Amino acid sequence: MDKSRHVKEVYKLLQKLYPNALTFLDYINPFQLLVAVVLSAQTTDAQVNKVTPVLFSKYSDPEALMSAQTAEVEKIIRSTGFYKMKTRNITGAAKKLVLDYHSEVPEDMDDLLTLPGVGRKSANVIRAHCFNKPAIIVDTHFSRVTKRIGFTDSSNPEVIEKDLLLITDKAIQTDLSMIINIHGRKICTSRNPLCGECVLSSICWHSD
Ligand code: SF4
Repeated sequence: MDKSRHVKEVYKLLQKLYPNALTFLDYINPFQLLVAVVLSAQTTDAQVNKVTPVLFSKYSDPEALMSAQTAEVEKIIRSTGFYKMKTRNITGAAKKLVLDYHSEVPEDMDDLLTLPGVGRKSANVIRAHCFNKPAIIVDTHFSRVTKRIGFTDSSNPEVIEKDLLLITDKAIQTDLSMIINIHGRKICTSRNPLCGECVLSSICWHSD
């Protein structure tokens, strides 16, 4: 089976299983999603969702966050880990939004990558969910599952993104990213993937 067809088959099966795949981060505007995504590095989305209501009630826009007291922000986000670096990143990103982007989150990939703490994965999350751009969102779950299924041979996130862009229709790129992520959390787990319960077992290269 060629890889594009393989992707479509996998998508069809997983889409039935996870029909309403959404991001797990809580947000109401692009600024909030940007901050939440930066905070989600090396922690769970649930943990981020615990601190962002407090953070956004105090600092509701980039102007407020760029002027925040470092110690106060650190205290609020401490439980997400790496809180000193994350404080620098979110206040630095807020400042850059104010100074360079009229306090708006940009939608262009290159612009997003200029913001502290924002890499390709985060930029793709923002482009997909705030600007409806097709995006392959490569995180640890997506990397593991796509390699096991046989969509890519690489473990390098940038190469995986490129490989998947080549074989995935634009219309399903974002949704595919989300449902593979969920499948990785629930079934195709890092240790002991549940191949016996997996709807992909007959078309997954790992389970041959
Ligand atoms: S068959 Fe196994 S390795 Fe393949 S996607 Fe399912 S759980 Fe993962």
